[in-house]
Formats: sequence, structure tokens, C-alpha cells
Amino acid sequence: MSFEKFNLHPSIMSGVQALGYVTPTPIQLQSIPPIMQGRDLIGLAQTGTGKTAAFILPVSHRLLPRPRGRVRALVISPTRELAEQTYEFAADVGRHTGLQSIAIYGGVGMDQQTRRLRDGIDIAVACPGRLLDHIWKGTVDLADVEVLVIDEADRMFDMGFLPDIRSILRCLPTERQTLLFSATMPRDVRRLVEEVLRDPVTVQIGRTQPAMTVSHCLYPIRQHLKTALLKSLLRETDTESVLVFTRTKHRAERVAQQLKGAGHRVASLQGDLPQHRRQAALDGFRNGAFKVLVATDIAARGLDVLEISHVINYDMPDGIDAYIHRVGRTGRVGKAGVAFTFITREDAAMVTNLERLLNKPLDRCTLQSFDYSMPAPERDYARSPRRPRERTGAR
Ligand code: AMP
Repeated sequence: MSFEKFNLHPSIMSGVQALGYVTPTPIQLQSIPPIMQGRDLIGLAQTGTGKTAAFILPVSHRLLPRPRGRVRALVISPTRELAEQTYEFAADVGRHTGLQSIAIYGGVGMDQQTRRLRDGIDIAVACPGRLLDHIWKGTVDLADVEVLVIDEADRMFDMGFLPDIRSILRCLPTERQTLLFSATMPRDVRRLVEEVLRDPVTVQIGRTQPAMTVSHCLYPIRQHLKTALLKSLLRETDTESVLVFTRTKHRAERVAQQLKGAGHRVASLQGDLPQHRRQAALDGFRNGAFKVLVATDIAARGLDVLEISHVINYDMPDGIDAYIHRVGRTGRVGKAGVAFTFITREDAAMVTNLERLLNKPLDRCTLQSFDYSMPAPERDYARSPRRPRERTGAR
């Protein structure tokens, strides 16, 4: 099936062609028709399935014939990175339709956003906190919103945005179309769905499983050898762009520095960096200036770099969902990807959960040339051979 079948407006089809999309992905196939009919929708889809287009295309179609310059579609995103990416997609399509979009998030000045809003916006893609700042200052008017999209709803709840979402909902017209996308359906999300969606269509793409195109490999390793193993793997593996995940911000910085010292083109991405540094890291990773990005889970959502060949979990993530989102950065839309995960003895329970999720034992890999017998540095070893993990909340 091709995009023609949807009967999207010709200007939107020009956008689709310019993006080089030929065949709709399963989530697009299932979501675009009901969204075009004006139905509310729950999209249960993992990352990398093409869900941005699944809502931006039909929403743009809906906005086309009506008056311009008022916020008529609002997309709420949990992270700045995801908001920026969704905005970029909407702006790409908007170059053909004339629909104006904006990304609204914190960490950058409000004035420029306020000016853009004043100039006339059709589609706003916003993170909850900064959107509320604009609402309270009276610099955004949501009275004309016809379509609300709540993206990555499970993540939104993990990040504690539920009260903000409720405040935003109170500022929107009750007569509207509401679309909610989520990789998983925890209880809080289910409750919100029952409260705000009307007779929704549910579209489910796969289970909450990593993409079939990703192969998974576990590297049992002692904590003090992780960086050395990472360096050896990067040296000996044929990779394109590599995304390395660490548990803490501090560790992301340290590992990035160590790789830099070993001659890699590397950047770090973690929540303490100012917005311009985050953007520079992402831009550099996307355009190939950096081959390796060392990140905390902040980067696990939305990061859209098609050439990520390998995701390396330097530290095992906190939970299954986090694993799915991390490895969802590779193997996107049919491409093959590889996920390496370093595991220590402390990760045994997560390994069991992962194998249960994937319904198969995972390969334990060793790097032949690597010296696994290297002793821990005297100081660390003596002090805390089984040191508790670093705090998990510090992202
Ligand atoms: P998303 O899940 O929206 O983040 O999309 C993941 C990636 O798939 C992005 O790079 C999109 O540009 C790409 N993509 C989305 N839909 C299609 C399609 N129909 N054909 C090819 N690539 C697509």
C-alpha cells in the first residue's frame, strides 16, 4: 500500500515525497485513516515505528482548509529533544502546506517563542512546563485547539508531568480530537485515557518489545573493566554511529572524556548540560561530526539518527521499558541494529526479565582479544568491591 490511498491533501503528499517516504509503516497504516475521520486514538507503539508522521500528516490535513495563524493543534512531548524532533518534522511538512509550527520548551529564552506565537502558529509542539509558563503569562492562546496529541504518555508520567498535563487540559476546549501515544500502558496512563479520550480507536503495533531488527548481546564484565571493554569494542567492531548509555550524568561525562582521550570523536548528552550544548551534541551526532554519543536516558526518547548501528548499554538500564527505549534508537524502520549490554553480577534480575520479555535466552558474548583478568585499581577494589550502585534518579 502506498501513501496515495490515504487521500491526503496534495501539498501534504509533496511533503511525504520530499521526505522520501514510499510505503507507510504499520502505525501509519492503522492510525492515519481514523485520525482523518476525526476519531480519538490510542497509539500503542514503540519508538522508531514512524509514529510522528502517523499523527502529523493527518493532523496537518485536518488543519489545511481552515483559517491560519491560531494554535489549532497542540502536541505535548516529555522531553525537549522529542519536542524539537516533532517540530522539525511538522516544519518539514509545513514547507509544503504553509502551516506554521513552533517548538516550545524550557532552557532557552521565552521572548523568541512569544514573538513566534504572536506572528501566528498553527501547530505547537510543547513540553509541559514551558507551555504552562506561556499560559500563565498569557502569551499563548489555546482556545482554538481542535487536536491535542499527548506523545510518549508513559514517559510523561514517569517524569512526573501528570499535574502539569491536567492543568493544560483545563485550558483546552473540551470539544476536540485527542490522540495519545504511549509505548506502554501503566495504570496512570489508562486512567487518563478513560478521563480524556472519547470512544477511542486503539492501534497497537507489536507488543512492547524491542524492534525485531535489533540483535541483543550481553557482555558479562566487572565494573572496573567497562571502559576498557568499551574502547576495545569500538576499536574492533565495524560501527556507524554509536550511542552509549550510562546510568548517571557524571558517568556519561567521564566516559565521554575517556573516549575522547582515546581519540574518538565523541560528545556527551545529559540533563545538566545547557540547551545549546545539548543541541550541539545532537546536531554533531546527527551530521556525523561525532561518531559516538555518550548519554543518560534523556537521549533514549526521540533521538532520531537513522545511522545508529550500535546501542551500547555501558550500564544496564533501570527497567525493561528503559531498555526498550534505549535499544529503540537503533534498528529503526527496518534497518538492522545491534544492542550490546554490559552486565555485572548485580544485573542478574534485569537479565532474567529481559530474557522473559524477548522470550529467549540472550547471547553472552566475549571479546577474544580482551584481557578480562585485569585487576581493579587498588583503591577502588580495596574500598568497595561490591559498592552499591550510583543513585538512579540522577539524570
Ligand atoms: P518516529 O518513530 O516517528 O521517530 O520515526 C522513526 C524514523 O522513521 C524517522 O527517521 C522517520 O523519518 C522514519 N520514517 C517514518 N515513517 C517512514 C516511512 N513511511 N518510510 C520511511 N521512513 C519513515
